[in-house]
Amino acid sequence: MRTPLIIGNWKMHATISEARALATGVRDGAKRLGDVEVVLCPPFTALAAVSEVLAGGPVGLGAQNCHYESSGAHTGEISPTMLVDLGVRTVLLGHSERRRDQGETDDLINRKVRAGLAHGVTPVLCVGETDEERRQGLTFTTVEGQLRAGLAGVPAEAVAGIVLAYEPVWAIGTGVNATPIQAVEVHGYLRGLLSELASKEIAQGVRILYGGSVKPDNTDALIAQAEIDGALVGGASLNAQSFVAIVEHAARASGGLKGD
Ligand code: PEP
Repeated sequence: MRTPLIIGNWKMHATISEARALATGVRDGAKRLGDVEVVLCPPFTALAAVSEVLAGGPVGLGAQNCHYESSGAHTGEISPTMLVDLGVRTVLLGHSERRRDQGETDDLINRKVRAGLAHGVTPVLCVGETDEERRQGLTFTTVEGQLRAGLAGVPAEAVAGIVLAYEPVWAIGTGVNATPIQAVEVHGYLRGLLSELASKEIAQGVRILYGGSVKPDNTDALIAQAEIDGALVGGASLNAQSFVAIVEHAARASGGLKGD
């Protein structure tokens, strides 16, 4: 049994005071987590404040990116060492917005994945095809290339320490989520690749999240699929009530909310 994981990606939203309020809302609302893991990824500027809000509780702290070196002459960058210092234990890597807007390559993402693992920060490796790639029948080719490149040089045992997120680019921020069937076929394909890259046993333990327009009203159908181990949530994570509702749906699906 893989523990479901729900991650909120706040992207470039929330000042420090807004972040405190949002994190407090999630912390207080998600008290009856049940058997679900929850992680919030605020912008870098709010990590310290959110770390304080979440301290000692079950909701984890994540970052939206990191550099692959521990320190050095990299103006404007944030290292994994700095993230660990703030209480960060999870980092999103290879998000399609960074691949597209910052030109992040598979090679760069791979370095970051290896750096995260080396520093004890769980990399959430994001993969997904564009609309055009899906139309051309290149969905599996695209995600396979991203997965193989992202995990290049990662020893088989270390693969157990990653989380994968299947995020079709056409579903991110569009309001059009992948259907459970579409998501499951890609998740199954990715798990097959993980078996090949590591082992069947390791692949069975790796959580594969779905991301792309997840909302409270579509969570049940997605999370009911054995191959979907949770969600990476963008827009709907900016409202504590809707994010907590997603967490509650996941908790019910995994055996009930505490107190139900
Ligand atoms: C995301 O950015 O990772 C994402 C899934 O966004 P949204 O939920 O808004 O589609």
